Order: sequence, then C-alpha cells, then structure tokens
Amino acid sequence: MEINLTAVELGGRLFARPTALMLLGLTLLAFTGGAMDIQNPLLRPTVEAVIVPARWFLAGLSGCGALWFAWRLLLLYRWENGADGGCHRCGGFVRHLEGRWGDYSKCMMCGGTKSGHH
Ligand SMILES: [Zn+2]
Repeated sequence: MEINLTAVELGGRLFARPTALMLLGLTLLAFTGGAMDIQNPLLRPTVEAVIVPARWFLAGLSGCGALWFAWRLLLLYRWENGADGGCHRCGGFVRHLEGRWGDYSKCMMCGGTKSGHH
C-alpha cells in the first residue's frame, strides 16, 4: 500500500468535528453558568425560563459530541484490527456523500474518494 498517512491528519479527519461539538457545548455551558448566579428578582424568571433549558440543550450537545467521538474511536479501533470498511486504498470506513458529480464515497481513514456508494 502506498498511503501517505499521518497520524495528525487521520486524527483531525476522525475527531476534529466531534471534539469541536463537545468543546462548543462545554464552552457555552461555562459561559451561561455565570447567568445562573443572577439574583435580581426581575431577571430571575428569565434566567430560569431561558437559560436552564438552554443549558440542558448544551449538555445534550456535549453528550452527542462525546458519543460521536466514542463512535469514531470504535471505528478506528475496528479498522486497526482489520475490519474492512470498503475503502479501495486502505480498507477504511467510508462515508457516503453526494457531490456535484453525483454520489461518491469518502474514506474517513485515508481521505480517498471513489465515485458511487459501496
Ligand atoms: Zn482509505
């Protein structure tokens, strides 16, 4: 196999978005945390009506990011242990996408693309 695969590239492709989602959720949770301390009786109902559900949503978002991350980790583990995901170059797991020229598959491991869904 003539694959020029760096660990950084692979890690970025697999984990960049799940990590970003988790960090986004956690950052906004920390950010909205300050609003929970508002004791002003005029603002208090707003905080409870808006910020509390928003924080639950953000917690869910971080949770999804964590699950996504775990899923990608599992895929990586399976691939390293010989599972065939269908990539014609490295056997990695492919995602089915639609591009300008129709359907294609993109490998999550090596980044290789191939037309059609497999
Ligand atoms: Zn591949």
